[in-house]
Amino acid sequence: MLLISCPNCGPRDETEFHYGGQAHIAYPESPNDLTDREWAEYLFYRENTKGTFAERWVHSTGCRQWFNMLRDTVSYDIHAIYAMGQPRPDLKTTSPKSEPEQPGEFTQSGDFGQAGEPGLAPGATSPTATTPISSEGV
Ligand SMILES: [Zn+2]
Repeated sequence: MLLISCPNCGPRDETEFHYGGQAHIAYPESPNDLTDREWAEYLFYRENTKGTFAERWVHSTGCRQWFNMLRDTVSYDIHAIYAMGQPRPDLKTTSPKSEPEQPGEFTQSGDFGQAGEPGLAPGATSPTATTPISSEGV
């Protein structure tokens, strides 16, 4: 069970929400100029991402407002929740403050939020994180 932080209502149970599919699908500028194939692709073709995925959700039994969410499709970790119309957040520069509050079952995978370690490859462990304090100059 997911605990989803609605931007208007706060953390609520997953059963109060409905999934709205992939986020950031722009309506075609001139739909009448599209071929049937292009129109069908706009309507039905969606990414099937394994990993972090931008998707739309609606708080259907609460405020009934739509919002976007960055969710990992493997671990179900929620990495960001942001308003409709806002660009997809760059997780590498996302501060911990914008992380949704997920007490209890929320576990950080370790691939995100490591500001200050820009050279660290995804999935790599950081043995230097506990650098001993030097006693030189004391
Ligand atoms: Zn709400």
